[in-house]
Amino acid sequence: MASKPDTKAAGAPTNMAELAKSELAGLHAAIDTRAREVAAKNKGRLHCERGCSGCCVDDLTVFEVEAARIRAAHPELLKSGVPHAAGACAFLDSEGACRVYDVRPYVCRTQGLPLRWLELEHGLEHRDICVLNDEPVVGPWPTIVDLPIEACWTLGPAEERLSQLQRELCGDEAPARVKLRDLFSRLD
Ligand code: SF4
Ligand code: SF4
Repeated sequence: MASKPDTKAAGAPTNMAELAKSELAGLHAAIDTRAREVAAKNKGRLHCERGCSGCCVDDLTVFEVEAARIRAAHPELLKSGVPHAAGACAFLDSEGACRVYDVRPYVCRTQGLPLRWLELEHGLEHRDICVLNDEPVVGPWPTIVDLPIEACWTLGPAEERLSQLQRELCGDEAPARVKLRDLFSRLD
């Protein structure tokens, strides 16, 4: 098995960005594949579309490894672009679309899906969904508590893989979380 390049060597930011592009891209692609499957099982429920941006809230934070992928893909935007006004995600454009959609972080790739997570200590399962997607577009739909497990996105496994990737690529010394807004050179 090939060993991983030393991300702490001289020129580490560039090296890390290259690693992020290849390894994180694979994780994001796998997340997208699974998210599409879950979305297909909720086709009559989801209102998500380009320009709908209520879920693009301000002050989202991401792991440094996901920030590195955005930096590598959109250097000009980050250098001279104007962040969206405070109150919504800095990456939204004037039409409510994402300016880094191709490399958006994990949390943005599952927005709108019925989410479920387990509270192992108390043996509880919790579920949640965007309020807009609680109302079906067509036909009667079960409430999200009645959806089968395969029609929900289960939180946990992707977060764990992302956390592992963060540790492998960035080490313990890298900042753990980065505010999306702070990626812009201009903070107005
Ligand atoms: S990065 Fe893009 S998809 Fe994610 S919250 Fe910001 S604008 Fe929305
Ligand atoms: S999650 Fe909600 S606010 Fe976000 S795109 Fe989907 S319907 Fe719109």
